[in-house]
Amino acid sequence: MGQGISRRELFRILGISGVAAGVGGSLASESVFADPPRTESGFTGSVIKDHVVQSTATCPTVVNGEVVQPARKLSLLGSTDVLVVGGGSAGVAAAIAAKRAGADVVLVERYNHFGGLWTGGLVLVVIGHMVKGPKQVCMGIGEEMMRRLEKFEGGIMNRGPGLNPTVDAEALKFVMVDMIQEAGVKVFLHCWGVDAVMDGDSVCGAVFESKSGRQAILAKTVIDATGDGDLFAAAGAEFEHRTYNIGLVSRVGNLDKLDAAAAKQSPKPRGLGSATPIPGVNWVNMLGPETDGLDVAVLSQLEMSHRRFIWETVQKMRKTPGYEKASLLETGPQLGVRITRTLAGVKTLTRENIRRGERCPDVVAVGGFTKPEGEEWHIPYGVLVPKKVDNLLTSGRCISSALNTADNIRLIPVCFATGHAAGVAAAVAVKDGCRPREVEIPKVQQILRQQEAYLG
Ligand SMILES: Cc1cc2nc3c(=O)[nH]c(=O)nc-3n(C[C@H](O)[C@H](O)[C@H](O)COP(=O)(O)OP(=O)(O)OC[C@H]3O[C@@H](n4cnc5c(N)ncnc54)[C@H](O)[C@@H]3O)c2cc1C
Repeated sequence: MGQGISRRELFRILGISGVAAGVGGSLASESVFADPPRTESGFTGSVIKDHVVQSTATCPTVVNGEVVQPARKLSLLGSTDVLVVGGGSAGVAAAIAAKRAGADVVLVERYNHFGGLWTGGLVLVVIGHMVKGPKQVCMGIGEEMMRRLEKFEGGIMNRGPGLNPTVDAEALKFVMVDMIQEAGVKVFLHCWGVDAVMDGDSVCGAVFESKSGRQAILAKTVIDATGDGDLFAAAGAEFEHRTYNIGLVSRVGNLDKLDAAAAKQSPKPRGLGSATPIPGVNWVNMLGPETDGLDVAVLSQLEMSHRRFIWETVQKMRKTPGYEKASLLETGPQLGVRITRTLAGVKTLTRENIRRGERCPDVVAVGGFTKPEGEEWHIPYGVLVPKKVDNLLTSGRCISSALNTADNIRLIPVCFATGHAAGVAAAVAVKDGCRPREVEIPKVQQILRQQEAYLG
């Protein structure tokens, strides 16, 4: 890293000033960026001396043809007030909201970035935050992300009344990290939530697998923001397991280098998609087959067949006169799994609630529509709360809702709004020493409004 580039130069490229270097915590610390002593190759390494050969006494064994894991102690990765599992649009909003509301927060994500389907799934278009007027109803932390994106050339486009903004995934990943670090949320990436730690019917933490092994984090309140309800399922909460369409989004580039005259004479090729904030780059959505997003064999098959389909589609496009320079920039790092598990909550949102634009006293988020022609619809607190399991909330695309509401509740603005609500409610529960199902909802609403959420 140090080869041919000074630390000062590296800081300049990364946009870290001498003052800001301290703010970024260990990321910007001297030790990480210090020029290493010169070796022949330029690389350095060392042996971790205290490594001991691990005992296999607690390894799984085969007993009567079944694989059995003996009981074993887990090391503690940490303990906190609020543990958010999953760093998508819902989880990031939840973590920032809980921290801003005064709780200690740990946010854990299985991949290497934040944003979930919004960034890693290349779902760049923020649909469904409008009602007639046109008026934008999904506000708060998600809206703050979009305002911050506006400060970057190429960060976001289509910001305006009645429009659905389109973001740039890399700019959004950057903004999310900035907001998380500014808030002071503790983060673990590359860390997969695999189990709930239980005390009777109450969740008191979660178990994670990572390169550091199998470890636990203890927490007063846990927010399941995995999108798939991995944590509420592990905790024994009731849920519905659904099939839905699974696609793979891609980006096509060089569209500003087409031979316009020849392209005009050709039939429009398939897979051109829609514009993004980067000139000449389009995002291309895919519906995909209706299937089970929790079946690893299905997911593996789809990753391969969807990539083949996208590659072949772009190759065909390149054979169309005028489109020879079009090229496949990337397929989504994350498969487009829309709906899998949805919680059976204290309340369940129905199509009727949405169609009638129903209002409720325990509103904690407000949803809108693709086009600004409907009424706003209220999301009650109970859709985040499991019927029975305690100290657990959910948010995002797996909230308690009827199957025919899926295309409303899974939209990005609704996910960041329900994440925002779960984060504030979790912080209030911790502060007041009560179970999340017992929080004083007016208190949650007051803090949400202070944090610029719109509640109607
Ligand atoms: C193909 C496609 C097209 C879409 N088009 C649009 C559109 O145009 N406009 C729109 O508004 N919406 C669209 N959506 C819907 C929208 O993108 C998602 O519903 C929304 O982004 C979900 O946000 P979320 O935070 O609830 O879940 P996710 O984005 O899925 O985030 C969950 C996060 O949790 C992490 N995670 C999961 N399991 C674990 C675990 N066990 N441990 C640790 N971390 C875990 C994931 O890696 C991810 O980061 C589309 C969805 C798809 C799939």
